[in-house]
Amino acid sequence: MIVVKNLSKDFGGIKALDNLNFCLNKGDIVALLGPNGAGKTTLLRLLTGYLDPTSGDVEIYGSNPQHKRVEALRKIGYVPENAPLYPEMTVSEFLKYSADLGGLPAGEFKQAFNNTVSQMRLHNVVNQKIDTLSKGFKHRVAIAAALILQPRILILDEPTEGLDPNQKHEIHKFIQTYGSRNIIIVSTHILEEVEAVANRVILLNKGKLVRDTSPQELKLSGSDYDITSAFRAITGEN
Ligand code: ATP
Repeated sequence: MIVVKNLSKDFGGIKALDNLNFCLNKGDIVALLGPNGAGKTTLLRLLTGYLDPTSGDVEIYGSNPQHKRVEALRKIGYVPENAPLYPEMTVSEFLKYSADLGGLPAGEFKQAFNNTVSQMRLHNVVNQKIDTLSKGFKHRVAIAAALILQPRILILDEPTEGLDPNQKHEIHKFIQTYGSRNIIIVSTHILEEVEAVANRVILLNKGKLVRDTSPQELKLSGSDYDITSAFRAITGEN
């Protein structure tokens, strides 16, 4: 469970986030939307303890990422856009490295490795060096590095950027399966994929939470009953 209470973040005179309140539960697959500069990345950085709030609180299954960062982060897998990979390592070496870095007990590695390889369909490339993989596979490896710790919360920043339609479909299927038993937050500018994956939308505009609703409800705010027109109507983007 994630609880966000009266959360604000200022950078000098800029109010990047302004008094956000929401609560996320198991089974929530949240599309985090907003125009450029709305505060999405700032929110993700506060959730993962990379930034401290100016005021307000975040709780990750009862732990505050500012005060108990290691405990809170054990529950979160964060896959930033262009996540760093080690090109000289093979996929299995990299997953072992990620597991060790995240503190996964050695006795749990084999099972976690098998689950992760199967979830990300990496069977055919486990012994391949990362720099020889296609963009789509590199992307799966980045997600796998977070998944190896089997986090209860997975945060994906632009998870299908630059992928072909087949790869996109695979990632969407994965998000739906994993999200049914966990919490997933997907930050995306690809509005067409919101309905394909999310059951909840949090829309930020100028640092404020302007909608916390379902994709279906959100569409009602647009003249054409689609997410793009709703997004434009609410955030004033043309
Ligand atoms: P995008 O979709 O373009 O990635 P975003 O929704 O992720 O945008 P943020 O990166 O969270 O938006 O930025 C929110 C606001 O806070 C912007 O006005 C940005 O310039 C400002 N901001 C973010 N990080 C910093 C920082 N480290 N120092 C100063 N201002 C910052």
